[in-house]
Amino acid sequence: MHRLLAEPTISRYEGLLGRETIKATIGRVLDQLRASRGAQSYEAIVNSLSADLEAVHLAQLQPVVNATGIVVHTNLGRVPLATEAQAAVAKISSGYSNLEFDLERGERGSRYAHVTGILKEATGAQDALVVNNCAAAVLLVLDTFAKGREVIVARGELVEIGGGFRIPDVLERSGATLIEVGTTNRVYREDFEAALSPRTVLLLRTHPSNYRMEGFTHVVSVRDVVELGVRAGVTVAEDLGSGALVDLSEFGVPQERTVREAVADGVGLVTFSGDKLLGGPQAGIIVGRANLIARIRGNPLLRALRVDKATLAALRATLQFYREGSFRERIPIYRMLSASIEELRRRAAAYADTIDGASVVESDAYIGGGALPQARLPSIAVAVSTEQPDLFAAALRRAEPPIVSRIERGRVLLDLRTIPASVDRDVVAAVVASTTSYSRSISPPASHQSRKPPTL
Ligand SMILES: *Cc1c(COP(=O)(O)O)cnc(C)c1O
Repeated sequence: MHRLLAEPTISRYEGLLGRETIKATIGRVLDQLRASRGAQSYEAIVNSLSADLEAVHLAQLQPVVNATGIVVHTNLGRVPLATEAQAAVAKISSGYSNLEFDLERGERGSRYAHVTGILKEATGAQDALVVNNCAAAVLLVLDTFAKGREVIVARGELVEIGGGFRIPDVLERSGATLIEVGTTNRVYREDFEAALSPRTVLLLRTHPSNYRMEGFTHVVSVRDVVELGVRAGVTVAEDLGSGALVDLSEFGVPQERTVREAVADGVGLVTFSGDKLLGGPQAGIIVGRANLIARIRGNPLLRALRVDKATLAALRATLQFYREGSFRERIPIYRMLSASIEELRRRAAAYADTIDGASVVESDAYIGGGALPQARLPSIAVAVSTEQPDLFAAALRRAEPPIVSRIERGRVLLDLRTIPASVDRDVVAAVVASTTSYSRSISPPASHQSRKPPTL
């Protein structure tokens, strides 16, 4: 054990994992060896151990470099928080706060009150409420209004949002009867009209955020649905999902309805995420008419879906940048969207100067899954040509910090749009180090060394 602990390839994990984890791993590997009874060289044991420790290290929650060019990346933690939002979290979390305490009156207050005003301002809605995520927001809306009643949804909008969260299943669980109208690809105002009954309580629209229909399609305009709702005295609810607060056309992104537009269209309840195009913490936001939000506030389920003080602090700090008009500079995803091609090209050139086999190429970045998956953004990437791109990408994932890249046409691409300029130096160093470990991993055994070494 002591000898193993002193091995440089093992002791290097001490700072990352702690001595106790390493000891436990050594114990486990030694037990396995004893059980298998095979004679193993000391070197083989060290190698097997360091592979195990590497696996334990990689499985830990840790920061990674998103070089995929996908701006809203659910698997990589969706979106980074603004520095000020991080500071707000630290400030509120490090001590007590007036989370549910009214300092003026000295009595109990509401946690939701801390963001209501700023959300109303950002969306034009009469009232607002925040829960854990947008899936929870949808669940809460349906649970509050739809139990034992009918909800009309266009067939083409009965989507699975991801992670198995399917609108029809949630509807069923909330005790509502789902009335599907239209066909998969076409739905008309008349379809909604014909489905209305005295039991109808909601006309539900869902943003098909993760897929797109093309070709022979027809959808009903929101205005038409709202008009129908007004006439029938039925609320229109819209799950926007990504929930842009600002017009994205200035970033070259196809027109996406903002939350304010949905509210202005007369949609009674709008739900959206805090960590998609808003660029804030994980949260689900419900905005809409005051009487409807008041009913949701009275739903006991709200208590089970409530947000933490850290979320509220980060959300408030993020929303502040929309109020001040400084979101382009302050919110990380908008900084990424604002970066000019020239700027990305200049940074990429510096990468290519240092990394063997690298060149600067044009690339497509994406807003990302669950938001606007098809929205392409012109971008610049560093392309590394290698014999085995999948092995090189694997080496990058093991780098310090881990780098998640994209493979395209046999090349490994590092898209500059999602890499903050502040980490360029570290990323270049990590890529160079990965190049070495990759070359070693694909080098033929020493006896075949006469062959030309693989080129990157
Ligand atoms: C992403 C998305 C959701 C789920 O949002 P979370 O905040 O991840 O729970 C719900 N509805 C739509 C339309 C979405 O795009």
